[in-house]
Amino acid sequence: MNLAALPAFADNYIWMLHDGTRAVVVDPGDAAPVVEALQAQGLTLAGILVTHHHPDHVGGVDALRPLLRGPVWGPAREAIPAPFEPLREGDRIDVLGLAFEVIDVPGHTAGHIAYAERGAAAAPLLFCGDTLFSGGCGRLFEGTPAQMHDSLAKLAALPADSRVCCTHEYTLSNLRFARAVEPDNGDLADYQRHCSALRESGLPTLPSSIGLERRVNPFLRCSVPAVVAAAARHGAGGSDAISVFGALRQWKNDYR
Ligand code: ZN
Ligand code: FE
Repeated sequence: MNLAALPAFADNYIWMLHDGTRAVVVDPGDAAPVVEALQAQGLTLAGILVTHHHPDHVGGVDALRPLLRGPVWGPAREAIPAPFEPLREGDRIDVLGLAFEVIDVPGHTAGHIAYAERGAAAAPLLFCGDTLFSGGCGRLFEGTPAQMHDSLAKLAALPADSRVCCTHEYTLSNLRFARAVEPDNGDLADYQRHCSALRESGLPTLPSSIGLERRVNPFLRCSVPAVVAAAARHGAGGSDAISVFGALRQWKNDYR
């Protein structure tokens, strides 16, 4: 199975999974890069996965329908372009012969879902939309810090070698913030150098992995003493993980 990140807009990726004949895409905010990739490689569009309702994730769905030979899957609790097959926590779907399980991850939006591959021998795929980014997380447009913290904890509990396929190339700016939170985290410094080199070469920093995110992503590290202390200096009302998470998220919103 082949995985490609199709660039869209300023900093989105539309993930495309294909077996040489059939392809599925995740969060096609724009149809054009998908049509181009399908044509260039002679692929049939066999399905569309949607994580949440934002226009940069669903804007290309209707334009792709004439090409589509399979379902649009999407979150049951969100208004995405109909018709689609509504999914909720625990649902399982077959995507080009791979088994994916749906995880509810409210926070960025109220009904946001993620798709986690199950039963893979190694490096299972995770399509997590705008919930977990490399080095960061999505903004809380429709959810609370407690919801987002809980959603991220579910993703952090997935196998360490899970491939984190998120929708935005926000890594370098996330890592600048992460270093402000944890200036003494050596893994983070190494990863920042690695990602800077990738971007200088015009390459994506993604997919990341869950194991790496546990070591470098401050939003998954709300119980680490250095993170707790940094959050306390930025308005955290307590040292519990949700207070720490809420303070980090607010600090990041204002960080330049
Ligand atoms: Zn979004
Ligand atoms: Fe987005």
